[in-house]
Amino acid sequence: CGIVGYYTYNVRKDLQFVLDCLFNGLKRLEYRGYDSAGVAFDVDVISEENGVFESTGPLIVKEVGKVDALERMTYDIVARDQLDLKRQFRSQVGIAHTRWATHGPPSAVNSHPIPSDPEGQFVVVHNGIITNYNLLKAFLIKHGEVFNTETDTEVIPKLCKFVYDRLAEKLVMEVLKKLEGAYAVLVKSTHYPGELVACKRGSPMILGIKEEPGARRTSFSRLHDAADTKWRHEAIECFIASDASAVIEHTKRVIVLEDNDVLHLCSGGYGIYNTGGDDVEEAVPRVLLTL
Ligand code: GLU
Repeated sequence: CGIVGYYTYNVRKDLQFVLDCLFNGLKRLEYRGYDSAGVAFDVDVISEENGVFESTGPLIVKEVGKVDALERMTYDIVARDQLDLKRQFRSQVGIAHTRWATHGPPSAVNSHPIPSDPEGQFVVVHNGIITNYNLLKAFLIKHGEVFNTETDTEVIPKLCKFVYDRLAEKLVMEVLKKLEGAYAVLVKSTHYPGELVACKRGSPMILGIKEEPGARRTSFSRLHDAADTKWRHEAIECFIASDASAVIEHTKRVIVLEDNDVLHLCSGGYGIYNTGGDDVEEAVPRVLLTL
C-alpha cells in the first residue's frame, strides 16, 4: 500500500510527465504490497464547438491487479478519448494509490481514488484504517449520502462534500477532527483546482520539493482555515509519497511529515498546519532533509 501525489503551479508540464511521475512512483512503492491500484488526474479536452480547452474534472482509472496493467488501461483510455499526451498544463494535480484492502474486498469500485460523487468533487486516496467509519457512514447515510464502495475510506470524500456543502471554510480541519484511526490521505477537488491537501496520522508520508524554498507571505488560502498572515514556502513542484523511494528521481530535498500535519499546496507554495489550522512551523520548523 502506498500513495503518490504530484503538484505543480505555473510550470508547463505535459500530461505524459504527470502520468510518468504517478506510475513510476507507484512502481517504486510496489514492494510494500498491494492488491489494487488507481490514479486520478485532471484532463482538459478541446471543445468541438469552440476549440477551447475545457476542464472535465478528474479522470479516475482504477483496477484490481498490477500497476503495469493499470498503466496500460490508462493509456488505452487516453487513446480512446484522444487525450493529447503532449498537452501542456499550467498547473496540475495528480494522485495515485496502491491498495491493501482492509475494508471491502479488492475490486475496481473499492479501489482508490474514491470520489465523493459522480462529478468527483472530492477525490481521495488513503492508506490506513478509519476506525470510526461505521459511525460516520451511518451519519452520512442519514443525511442522504449514498455509498458506492464497501471501504472505510469512502467516508472521507463524502465528509469533505458534506462539510463543503455546509461549511466551506475550515473544510479539511473539520473533516480530520471527525476521523479516528490511521491515515495518510491526499484530497483533490474540483472546487479547488490546482490545489492539493495531504494529511497524515499513523501512516507515513513525505514531501519532496523541487525548488529551493524561501519563506514568503501570501494571502492565498482556501482549503484550510489559515489566516492570510500564515507563512508559506515557495515550491513550484512538489512530490508526495509514502516513502522517499518514490520521489528520489525528482528531488533529493524532502520533509518527513509528522502526525497531524496538514500540508496545503496551492498558488506556488506550501504550508504545513495542524488540525486546528495553525502554522506548525511557528513552533517547530520542519527540517528540510537532503537525501
Ligand atoms: N482501509 C482502506 C481500504 O481498505 C485503505 C487500505 C490501504 O491502506 O491501502 O480501502
